[in-house]
Amino acid sequence: MDESNERAGRACGPVLTSVRMTDEGVTKLPEQGVSWPELRAEMLTRGQHDANWREGKTAVYVFNAGDDVTQVQKEAYALYQSENGLGPAAFPSLHHMELDVVRMGLTLLHGDADATGNMTSGGTDSITMAVKAARDFHRSMAGDDHRQRNIVIPQSAHPAFDKASTLMDLEVRRVPIRSDHLADVTAMSDAADDDTVMIVGSAPSFPFGLIDPIVELSDLAQERGLWLHVDACVGGYIAPFVRMNGAPIPPFDFELPGVSSMSADLHKYGYCAKGASTVLFRSEELRSHMVFDHRLWPGGRMVTPTLAGTRPGGAISAAWAVMHYLGEAGYRTKHRQVTDARESIEAGVGELGFEVLGSPQLGLVAFSHPDLDVFAIYKQMYRRGWITALVTDPPALHLMLSPFHAEVTHTYLADLSDSVAVVRGGDTERVTEARYS
Ligand SMILES: *Cc1c(COP(=O)(O)O)cnc(C)c1O
Repeated sequence: MDESNERAGRACGPVLTSVRMTDEGVTKLPEQGVSWPELRAEMLTRGQHDANWREGKTAVYVFNAGDDVTQVQKEAYALYQSENGLGPAAFPSLHHMELDVVRMGLTLLHGDADATGNMTSGGTDSITMAVKAARDFHRSMAGDDHRQRNIVIPQSAHPAFDKASTLMDLEVRRVPIRSDHLADVTAMSDAADDDTVMIVGSAPSFPFGLIDPIVELSDLAQERGLWLHVDACVGGYIAPFVRMNGAPIPPFDFELPGVSSMSADLHKYGYCAKGASTVLFRSEELRSHMVFDHRLWPGGRMVTPTLAGTRPGGAISAAWAVMHYLGEAGYRTKHRQVTDARESIEAGVGELGFEVLGSPQLGLVAFSHPDLDVFAIYKQMYRRGWITALVTDPPALHLMLSPFHAEVTHTYLADLSDSVAVVRGGDTERVTEARYS
């Protein structure tokens, strides 16, 4: 990999800088249009320095469920890519596809007859809208008296909660987690007060891939009348199937009476096209606090359930198509490949002296090393073409596995063995702080 690749690397410094007008090599609007074949060729060339995910060498950002699923995503997206989910009356097709998708999600996550929800553009959108609903619900109960409200989240929760809180002027109380990397329910209970609009558990957390003690959080929520959000962004569309496959996944969803809302991303382990997530609520009463209903402008009444105005029809139609294409049996098969891959990785890294953090059950796994610098090992893996994530506390390598990875665990472990040997041999060049999403 060359230096420009280095810049694209997850763990190799800032990547999302903005353009400056003096930058060279950044194009202006061409005076005359360029033909599509020419553009297409250039676009493919531009992709040559991207992460090599098609060969399975990327275990973050991308979910590779096979070429057939990718084709369904693309064609189903293209069928409705011009339509707009903002107009349910104009596009009843999309409206009903969204209803179907949400209902499929709610069924998997034990929503009862009152449960409801919407599709959003992604996990951050789902979380932001759940926080908004919880805040406005709290206002409706306690009065909008400009008090400083807060959310109480485990240290391992996703930064989307901080982003949402910044937008809504909420205080974030990040509570230290237990030594087993799970949410500390007692400490969260101590951190919550009358101004707490939401408490959060992850199923699972991104850094550790471990499911927080949601049963205890649900009990706490019920005892204290708190809104519990379960962030199942990365777990919502895999955990139910892994349970069907026989793993003892503990209750983590609307089955628990204290759970008020959930986020579950279709564009992760739902294997749908990007731009698709679900935000789900125990009841329409709770969801109603999310919806924005506006008429004080000359354009007429506009009702938007989520942050977006225009909602890309393709993200909805692709999600609908992939879910129907795979069905329960398809998801169970794909997710079996994921958990098989995770089990091979766990066994292999154990032989190399790593320690897996906790007992992951889904598709994420993190592992630390008792005496080697994992940031140096990452550097070696990166040189061998791998782009994965890192955990900083404790320092650990991190993988988010796809079905396709079942075919490349041996390559990964062979490269990891070489990398360990190089680092043991004294090459301690390391990557710096990772970026997380
Ligand atoms: C990915 C993820 C999110 C954020 O989802 P985006 O689709 O990237 O916005 C939130 N929480 C968890 C646990 C995640 O893994």
